[in-house]
Amino acid sequence: MQKPKKGLLIILSGPSGVGKGVVCKALMERNPNLKLSVSATTRSKRPGEIDGVSYFFKTDEEFKRMIVNDEFLEYTSVYGSNYYGTPRAYVEEELAAGHDIILEIDVHGANQVKKCCPFAIAVFLAPPSMSALKSRLIGRGTEEPEVVERRFGEALYELRQAEKYDYIVVNDVLDKAVTAVEHIISAEHMRVFRRLDFVEDLEGGSKKQ
Ligand code: ADP
Ligand code: 5GP
Repeated sequence: MQKPKKGLLIILSGPSGVGKGVVCKALMERNPNLKLSVSATTRSKRPGEIDGVSYFFKTDEEFKRMIVNDEFLEYTSVYGSNYYGTPRAYVEEELAAGHDIILEIDVHGANQVKKCCPFAIAVFLAPPSMSALKSRLIGRGTEEPEVVERRFGEALYELRQAEKYDYIVVNDVLDKAVTAVEHIISAEHMRVFRRLDFVEDLEGGSKKQ
């Protein structure tokens, strides 16, 4: 994908239970201009989840058809069971419109996006400690104990992927973690290649005076 001039493609990932969902929710509430990419998944709906809002819930067949039709920017089988993927069209449209878009995806998906879109800004959300991670996974109460164990077991591998990211944000106090991501977004908007037009306009204006 071509590097967009204005819109940022932000990846937020990290181990299951670290708080990606709540950090994203707070970011959306506090920054109405930030768009969230809704992923497609074959996993079953949790109580309270809404199709098209939490995820696009798909059957295996539907998901595989989307793969064949090249409808995903990235996709992966997370924790060896269910498929998850980022629908390509929405991301491309939002970036073309100059909007910032955030992908809440796992470390494998983040790797794929960095390959196809090297301009993407990858933020790794880390837990303050492994015991906090475990309590959050258990405390959420959405998975069976063996699923919690499997996800916790993957966390060490996922932590080792952090070195490939651009930023590491520790989600200790939620509000601080959200503010840290907001600071990253603000700073990225001030990158020279995104601000050169502004300076060129200033130069153009000075010639007219
Ligand atoms: P993920 O999306 O990374 O799997 P969630 O956003 O579902 O994680 O968060 C997992 C659990 O941890 C939730 O119950 C959430 O309320 C809790 N949690 C998230 N961030 C914090 C935090 N900073 N302090 C305490 N609890 C948190
Ligand atoms: P959950 O089942 O708890 O909603 O999500 C499990 C994992 O899948 C989380 O780590 C989440 O970030 C990841 N995930 C959600 N959507 C996508 C996606 O579109 N692509 C990838 N690669 N991972 C995703």
